[in-house]
Amino acid sequence: MMPKAREPLTAYRSRRDFEKTPEPTSRGHTPRTKKPVFVVQEHHANRLHYDFRLEVDGVLKSWAVPKGPPPDPSVKVLAVETEDHPLEYATFEGTIPEGSYGAGEVSIWDNGTYRNLTERDGHAVPSAEALGMGHLKFRLEGKKLRGAYALTRMQRRKKPQWLLVKSRDETKTRGASGAH
Ligand code: MN
Repeated sequence: MMPKAREPLTAYRSRRDFEKTPEPTSRGHTPRTKKPVFVVQEHHANRLHYDFRLEVDGVLKSWAVPKGPPPDPSVKVLAVETEDHPLEYATFEGTIPEGSYGAGEVSIWDNGTYRNLTERDGHAVPSAEALGMGHLKFRLEGKKLRGAYALTRMQRRKKPQWLLVKSRDETKTRGASGAH
């Protein structure tokens, strides 16, 4: 099944007045990096939340995570899908002014690269396709976040809700030999 073709970043741009906000205006033509990036931004908006973003096909797929990334496999956290952001947003930090969409301080909480681990019937599934199916497994290589995680869609709504979990299998392989 082909992914639905659509203009990327339309929602992102329509919500922002670039005369007022310092956020990047990109139209999404930044060349791809070798390894796809991820970023987690701490966003002191009306409510503090963490914006979790994964580079997929030239944009940052984005989720608002109220509780932040889960610390261990026993914790499932809600991740509310939000609009795609331009790749330049991965390095954005600053203050979105009062009265603007998402007004408040944005700082980078963690960043790095990731690897898509999604498989079906023993074959790798591209990230966009995996997200379309509602399940993406990936390994984060950040400063704070390292290891395998998964995003799983719970409901199809205008703003679909996902669960972000840390995978148990991957944590077992980490640590010094002989450690539990
Ligand atoms: Mn946000």
